[in-house]
Amino acid sequence: MKTFGFAAQAATAPLAPFSFERRDLRPNDVAMEVLYCGVCHTDLHQVRNDWGWSQYPLVPGHEIIGRVTAVGTAVTHYKVGDHVGVGCMVDSCQECDQCRKGLEQLCRKGNIQTYNDTERFSCDPVARTYGGYSKHLVVREEFALRVPDGLDLSKAAPLLCAGITTYSPLRTFNAGPGSRVGVVGLGGLGHMAVKLAAAMGADVTVISRSKNKEADALALGADRLLVSTDAAAMAAAADGFDLIIDTVPVKHDINPYLPLLDVDSTLVLVGQIGPLAEPSTVPLLLGRRRIAGSPIGGIAETQEMLNFCAKMNVLPDVEMIRMDQINEAFERLDRADVRYRFVIDMASLPATQAA
Ligand code: NAP
Ligand code: ZN
Repeated sequence: MKTFGFAAQAATAPLAPFSFERRDLRPNDVAMEVLYCGVCHTDLHQVRNDWGWSQYPLVPGHEIIGRVTAVGTAVTHYKVGDHVGVGCMVDSCQECDQCRKGLEQLCRKGNIQTYNDTERFSCDPVARTYGGYSKHLVVREEFALRVPDGLDLSKAAPLLCAGITTYSPLRTFNAGPGSRVGVVGLGGLGHMAVKLAAAMGADVTVISRSKNKEADALALGADRLLVSTDAAAMAAAADGFDLIIDTVPVKHDINPYLPLLDVDSTLVLVGQIGPLAEPSTVPLLLGRRRIAGSPIGGIAETQEMLNFCAKMNVLPDVEMIRMDQINEAFERLDRADVRYRFVIDMASLPATQAA
């Protein structure tokens, strides 16, 4: 199937129109027209090859909302016209212990990422994956999510990554009524962590570099904002958290956050993939505190999150952009100048733009 989108041709090149092919429908595939695609900080990392494994051309996008246009002969869960979501994975081995538990993100053979990856399991010959900054997408039905009725399609896309990446550790570490949750970094992931934790009934504190985002934090559902550069306020907050979710996208120093944890409590890293400034073990040993990490979530948990968001009316704060505004959006994302997620309206990608 011929399609088109926007791709980076090199780490230093701006995104530009790109034509390419999607595979023909296999029996268990769903084809969709992409309606909306969120802009995750991961897209920026991948385009710039921050992690060293980018291959070009690279079509980013893993917060995808689409309308089903065709289904394979063996598809049972979806029909033409249904609204579906696709997140960060499009396949996994489906056989290992983790996949069988519904934890495809932890597949022993490695899940297949929606873009900048290679279809290894069920594609012959193996093929590169291209993401949602494109007009059409084909995915096996097990990796398509049902968008619940009533969820605003124009806002739902960021739930497929920012939503599940914060929902999963909130659930794993039992956020709920009576628990004290801190969120470091108020960006795309951070603002979803605040909304989700508040909807779960937790007491929520945004931990930010400045007081600038205080009014936003409160409006998003946080109970307060703690300024991480205010030593007196940080000292007064010691031992005050059951869970801290750290969404900072770069190498940084977590030492100021560790004393904020109560005994047996956990700081979960979901932002930086790579080195950190060296953490001291002193607050870990003396307070029996923990540092953990968490990647996205499984397919069943992602569906649970979408249903939760529909029920509780949790949606991201979105700034809608046209596809041709993506390079400017990347620059603003780099400066933490987004409130709080860019979403591309794919109707802005006319066929005439295809190169
Ligand atoms: P984002 O929208 O750019 O937000 C990041 C926030 O972190 C900023 O708004 C800012 O908040 C804070 N920040 C930025 N630079 C900082 C610095 N130098 N020091 C301290 N704080 C800083 O990014 P995002 O889309 O939420 O993504 C965050 C990270 O999560 C990215 O690295 C992305 O690759 C990663 N990610 C991981 C997973 C996963 O599976 N674990 C999934 C998706 C994304 P304040 O202004 O409030 O400080
Ligand atoms: Zn993402």
